[in-house]
Amino acid sequence: MMPTALPRRLLLPLLLTLLAGAAPAADSPRELLRQARDAVMRDPAQARGLAEQTLQALAAQPDTDTEIEARLVLCDHHAERDPAAAQREVAIVAELLPRARRGGLRAGLQACMGQIHEYASDTVRARAYYEEAVLSAEQAGDQDMLADALYLRGYLRSVQGELASALADLRRSHQLFLKLEQANRIANVLNAIAIVYNRMGDHAQARDYFLQSLKRHEADGALREQAVTLHNLGRATENLGDRDAARRHYEAALATSRRIDFPRGEAYALRGLASLANLQGDSREALGRLDEADARIRTSPDQRLQAQVLLQRGIALRLASRLGESVQALQQAQRIFAQADSRNELALVYDALAQTHAAAGDWHAAYQRGADFKAESDRLLRLQLDQRFATLKIEFDTSAKDREYALLQRENRATEQALVHEQRANQLKVVVIGLAAVLLLALALMVLRQYRTSRAMHSLALTDELTGLPNRRAVLARLQALLAGPDPRCAVLLADLDHFKRINDEHGHLVGDEVLKLIAARLTEAVREPVSVGRLGGEEFLVVLPATDLESARQVAERIRENVASIDPLRTQIPVPLTISLGVAATRGGGDSVSDMLRRADAALYDAKRAGRNRVIALVA
Ligand code: GH3
Ligand code: MG
Ligand code: MG
Repeated sequence: MMPTALPRRLLLPLLLTLLAGAAPAADSPRELLRQARDAVMRDPAQARGLAEQTLQALAAQPDTDTEIEARLVLCDHHAERDPAAAQREVAIVAELLPRARRGGLRAGLQACMGQIHEYASDTVRARAYYEEAVLSAEQAGDQDMLADALYLRGYLRSVQGELASALADLRRSHQLFLKLEQANRIANVLNAIAIVYNRMGDHAQARDYFLQSLKRHEADGALREQAVTLHNLGRATENLGDRDAARRHYEAALATSRRIDFPRGEAYALRGLASLANLQGDSREALGRLDEADARIRTSPDQRLQAQVLLQRGIALRLASRLGESVQALQQAQRIFAQADSRNELALVYDALAQTHAAAGDWHAAYQRGADFKAESDRLLRLQLDQRFATLKIEFDTSAKDREYALLQRENRATEQALVHEQRANQLKVVVIGLAAVLLLALALMVLRQYRTSRAMHSLALTDELTGLPNRRAVLARLQALLAGPDPRCAVLLADLDHFKRINDEHGHLVGDEVLKLIAARLTEAVREPVSVGRLGGEEFLVVLPATDLESARQVAERIRENVASIDPLRTQIPVPLTISLGVAATRGGGDSVSDMLRRADAALYDAKRAGRNRVIALVA
């Protein structure tokens, strides 16, 4: 098939539009921040540059949360290099925080404060900040921040010898990072877990974890973390007595640190190589490495690292028989480790001091430091055993808590669902009630209409259409009821218009109808309840008078006759005088039927007509 020109002309601009829409602006603050975060592990200097670019980009399109996050990256960067610069970021973040949307950012600030103090060896303050960070992140439900804070607290706990709770923190952090799919952070935590195992004296486990984390770092290209892990791996293998492997790892750590200009990493690696040299009795080599390490440390404020270098220097100086300097270096290391509460290292310093004193022939001091070493290493061993037990207990408690939590969550979900169902049921109930009410109303209206209709029909069936009087059926039913009732005495008047045919003939039926209406009105006016009037048909009307004797009835009939006869033809648009004749009949004391009454009244009426009309005849007997 031949493609037409139209789709082609549309396709290209469409594709371009889609592509432009899909790719985020490369220089948007969020994108720059993402890149900065990504670079933290790989290339700290680049991370810092990107974070600063983020801040510049934010000048054009300000956003508090993004600014805080960028400043936290900078704070993290400066914490180990330039505490004053880190503090400046902290101050700005603290000011921005009240306007932040993401509540968990407070945890980020507290975490960085902790880091600043941790690098300054103020572990007590650092620990307090990490505790706050964990709490803030938990309260804000911010899993990212929580994973970070737990990592930092866990790591510090491990440094402080609380290995079991450290392991619990680090495992939680590990799980969170796994859930959040932050591969490079997972490697960090694995690294920290390995350090804990190392401190528990389980160097083989530690080595395996370090190797795992190293692989992840390599996959991520996280060079800085690779350098740290390689150094740790060197220590674990050194502890396992594998010096060749240890040397390989330390060398690799050194090379990597140099590649990324990571002086602390270099210093650590050099310390490791010095330690191996000391183990081989090569004090020259060791001291050379340590001088190099010192040069690196000058740019970094890590006091514990300094103490570790001093420890190796003390050993190397002893090997070089510079015993006075050795003691000096070791005592300096002792002070720093004691201040940082680094008991492992303190034990090592005591051991080294004991050996230096012994070499100097100071048996008393040698004995004392030896006893200190024994006490510390006993303590360490006990601690390691305790911590292994505690780890088992915490693991058990944690899994029990996790199960409880899962159960609680399931319950909550069930309750929520039940609530939703109940709400739905209630809504349905309301709808049903509403519908029922509407239905009932409709039904009631229908019943009312039916009632009205039937009443109308009923009255229609009993009413004479022309005059509005009760019709023949109605008036005869009334008479029938009266005759059949407890007091049947009554009288009837049968009224008939005189020469009505003539009126019809001379003036038309419409005038005739008007005359019938007029007469009906006069008859109604002439009587009152319980007397009733009805139209029998044509121009004949029946008046029923309950409890009335013949004479009284005759008088009523006479009054009616006069009333009609006195109608003024000028007022009624009827050009002829109107008269009626009336026949009167009354009950005769028992057993009168309707037809008896009508027959006798009719006979009287007939007499009246015959007697010349416009008169009343009462039929006696
Ligand atoms: P008499 O004095 O003997 O009663 O004479 P009459 O003409 O009144 O009596 P007749 O019975 O001969 O005529 C009754 C007429 O009444 C015949 C009929 O056309 C007329 N009529 C009956 N019903 C109606 C009605 O509803 N409207 C009108 N306009 N005329 C009616
Ligand atoms: Mg008639
Ligand atoms: Mg008549």
